[in-house]
Parts: sequence; structure tokens; C-alpha cells
Amino acid sequence: MLSCKELVANSSDLLDSQLSLRQRLAVQMHLAMCYRCRRFIKQMRLSQRVLRALPDAAIPELEELAARLAEEVRTRR
Ligand SMILES: [Zn+2]
Repeated sequence: MLSCKELVANSSDLLDSQLSLRQRLAVQMHLAMCYRCRRFIKQMRLSQRVLRALPDAAIPELEELAARLAEEVRTRR
């Protein structure tokens, strides 16, 4: 079973669709049971969409935001 920490570590690959089928299934199973990670992934997807919509100059701030979200999930355990 995937831990929240592992899920967060895999989240950027997940959002870029870089995970194998097996990894994706593990993530889906975790998300089905873990509200916090569902919310985390939702926020990551949202910031990724914003990232795509913005010019390159705005990317460092969003990377900081994503890092802060990951930190938030880690510290809440
Ligand atoms: Zn979790």
C-alpha cells in the first residue's frame, strides 16, 4: 500500500502521466481512501493548469506553491 509521502513524491509524475499502469493503480487506490491526498492532487492539478495558462516568468512562484502544498501534506501526518 502506497503511503501519503510516496504519493506526494510521485505526484508530479502522475500529473505528467509518467507512471506505469501498476503505479497508477496504486495511486488510484490510495486516492480512493485518502481524502487529504485527493485534495492535494486536486490542488496540484489546479496549479498545473494555471501554470500552463501563464507565461514562463510566473513559473518560479508556482513551483514554490507546489512545494508548499507538498510540505503541507507531509507535516499534517
Ligand atoms: Zn494519503
